Amino acid sequence: MTATDTRAVLDSLVDSGLSGREPSREDLLAVLATTDAELLDVVAAAGRLRRRYFGDRVKLNYLVNLKSGLCPEDCGYCSQRLGSKTEILKYTWLSPEDAAKAATAGVSGGAKRVCLVASGRGPTDRDLDRVGKTIEAIRAENPRVEVCACLGLLSDGQAERLREHGVDAYNHNLNTSEDQYGEICSTHDFADRVETVGKVRTAGLSPCSGLIAGMGETDADLVDVVLRLREIESDSVPVNFLIPFDGTPLEGTWGLTPQRCLRILAMVRLACPDREVRLAAGREIHLRTLQPLALHVVNSIFLGDYLTSEGQAGADDLKMIADAGFTVEGAEETTLPEQRERIRIRRRGAGTELAPNA
Ligand code: SF4
Repeated sequence: MTATDTRAVLDSLVDSGLSGREPSREDLLAVLATTDAELLDVVAAAGRLRRRYFGDRVKLNYLVNLKSGLCPEDCGYCSQRLGSKTEILKYTWLSPEDAAKAATAGVSGGAKRVCLVASGRGPTDRDLDRVGKTIEAIRAENPRVEVCACLGLLSDGQAERLREHGVDAYNHNLNTSEDQYGEICSTHDFADRVETVGKVRTAGLSPCSGLIAGMGETDADLVDVVLRLREIESDSVPVNFLIPFDGTPLEGTWGLTPQRCLRILAMVRLACPDREVRLAAGREIHLRTLQPLALHVVNSIFLGDYLTSEGQAGADDLKMIADAGFTVEGAEETTLPEQRERIRIRRRGAGTELAPNA
């Protein structure tokens, strides 16, 4: 592609993002194929949409791993998987008090949302009650904090029960394209994941669903999963970069460069202009010194540590945000732009694979 072609592709994607039109799949593929010399143009284009819908705000999210390791599922990227030899912390459910203590540390550091995560295929009804008690303990100390749960595949009625327990959002990542899904997991499939996100939306929870890059996928896989995330109306789109833990099948998979990571983030923003695009696990080891540039594309990051690995110090995250000219989003501010809150295009029920709202 010539420089003029690249500019035309970027202009067209920005126009689509500003006017609410569907982005073209070919244009998104072209973003991933740009050269390093074009990288700042790509970041600037994505940055126009980021500024338009989110200004200079950065939302901070804080992970609390309620139950770590010993999962019966075999997701190849995960250090908590069945048979993982990674020497991670392994423990069963944290008490509500301990979870609240961890959540309060995150909120004190500036987090607006806490993400309560438990390893496993999916929760039992007893687990949901446990999460309910945990939320009560967290809200007793932090009444305004947003709570997202991430407990695996949900069965009928469980999303509604979580909502009754005060959950605001539910995370369940699609991770990669439908075509590649069988390569990374054999104990559940892509359709199971799509179905859970549908249940979350139907129950009135805000769906959070994203991807992991760096697992050997093609550009087409990345664009496919992002377009699918757009279609299933994920409000938040976490973009993880594979942390290739020793002791997992993807050990030693180091295929990403900082420039590639920025291109991927920009492609996600250009495809999902008004969604919360969240820079997630792996940012420190893959973006490295280019992390501040990513803030021009994403409007949300995780603060501090991840589920089983350590992130950079929370204080350094805050410094990086301030130095790059951004501000931390406050509890009183709305994350998503008003038009996303008001009009929800129907993406479930008749004509889709998702459960109807009835
Ligand atoms: S990603 Fe979740 S379901 Fe898959 S192995 Fe890890 S903890 Fe288990």
